[in-house]
Amino acid sequence: MAELTKKERMQIPRQPMPEQAPNSRNKNFTEVNLGFTEELAKLEAERCLQCPKPKCIEGCPVGVQIKDFIKLVADGDYLAAASKIKENNVLPAVCGRVCPQEEQCEAKCVTGLKGESVAIGRLERFVADYERTTTGIRQAEIKTKTGKKVAIIGSGPAGLSCAGELVQLGHTVTVFEALHDIGGVLIYGIPEFRLPKEIVKAEVDALEALGVEFKTNSVIGFTDTIDELMTVEGYDAVFIGVGAGLPYFMNLPGENYNGVYSANEFLTRVNLMKAYKFPEYDTPVFDVKGKNVAVFGGGNTAMDAVRTSKRLGAANARIIYRRSEVEMPARIEEVHHAKEEGIEFVMLTNPLEFLGDEAGWLHGVKLKRWSLANLMLLEEEDPLRYPVQSMLCQSTWQLLQLVTAQIQSLKRQHPISTSINGVISRLKKPQ
Ligand SMILES: Cc1cc2nc3c(=O)[nH]c(=O)nc-3n(C[C@H](O)[C@H](O)[C@H](O)COP(=O)(O)OP(=O)(O)OC[C@H]3O[C@@H](n4cnc5c(N)ncnc54)[C@H](O)[C@@H]3O)c2cc1C
Ligand code: SF4
Repeated sequence: MAELTKKERMQIPRQPMPEQAPNSRNKNFTEVNLGFTEELAKLEAERCLQCPKPKCIEGCPVGVQIKDFIKLVADGDYLAAASKIKENNVLPAVCGRVCPQEEQCEAKCVTGLKGESVAIGRLERFVADYERTTTGIRQAEIKTKTGKKVAIIGSGPAGLSCAGELVQLGHTVTVFEALHDIGGVLIYGIPEFRLPKEIVKAEVDALEALGVEFKTNSVIGFTDTIDELMTVEGYDAVFIGVGAGLPYFMNLPGENYNGVYSANEFLTRVNLMKAYKFPEYDTPVFDVKGKNVAVFGGGNTAMDAVRTSKRLGAANARIIYRRSEVEMPARIEEVHHAKEEGIEFVMLTNPLEFLGDEAGWLHGVKLKRWSLANLMLLEEEDPLRYPVQSMLCQSTWQLLQLVTAQIQSLKRQHPISTSINGVISRLKKPQ
């Protein structure tokens, strides 16, 4: 068949992701996106212009050779495409599902200038899924052993990526994880309907097959200190990838009423501890069936919490966000999916106080409406001190999740190096 011209490629529309229908998926926890078929993947790959200077790669934090892997998809050589991606990314099935491609590689893709960018993330997911479900994840090549030992603290995406890179370079790698399972936010935060646990497990198993050792229930600082790892246990280097997992409350009156959760606790109970299957799983969670749920925040965590509430049977599940939709940090796809599933969005609104009964149960919340322009000007001081409009609403919402995260503070001299030689941290300096 003759090569397509640039014009012909530009005329192919961006291929839609097959997905579960909104009205059935908002009642189950199985994956929303179903993945490209081979036909859709090849058609989408044909949209790539194979630019001489591919901008998309500049937008990829790990430098995946996007142009090359897409060419291999267009040629139908999906396994070679998988190998190409894995040269730079050890978690392609995870990243293909949850990376914010619209702000990274796809934001740089030239086809986006005149139309819609190439669906790079969807193609990455397709390729990774194809390999996993046909041959199984094939092992990458490992360089000659260096004799160096590296300890990695935390098994979130930072720790896993670091482990994958280092083991392929020939180092001996051990990942220490505080929890009983591997994956960090990938397993305790992001719900099954966006990132199935079996996908994370398959990529973790592949790292194990490469030689990465995993030690769960190991809280570094308690079970071992960093000093002990480096002196007694003989590690040459330590990578700290402990995430930013602690919830951060807003310090508003009434936050301690029963029914107020941090998103962190709510999602961990439901996702990791399978509270949605209580009493089959021994983890209770507030029963939201038929209740009104308000989630404060506008990021991915907020979207996951509100969509989880809907799936647990909430009568009304609402996002309450202090700015407007344009400023919401959540992925566009998540906001779109949430709306389709019946989530309500209340913008430019902040909570002032949680209201409860004598038995200590939440029964309402006082809210304040803001004007965006004034909020932006004043928020650096203290938004709660500057009411912009006098409107005050009171609702009867019964469950609230407070959606923010606290960066654990670590002493360091540089955003990635720390004050100890050989120890580096993935966290940036707390703002
Ligand atoms: C609900 C939710 C949804 C999100 N959705 C997206 C999304 O769609 N796209 C996106 O790009 N980002 C998303 N994010 C953000 C993303 O998950 C994080 O940026 C990412 O997980 C950070 O990776 P990490 O490896 O640094 O930390 P984490 O994933 O937090 O992993 C840190 C690990 O370290 C372990 N640990 C902590 N202390 C110790 C210790 N002392 N010893 C041993 N182990 C320890 C923790 O138990 C944890 O497993 C989301 C975050 C949340 C909370
Ligand atoms: S920028 Fe877009 S069109 Fe160009 S090579 Fe990358 S994916 Fe293809």
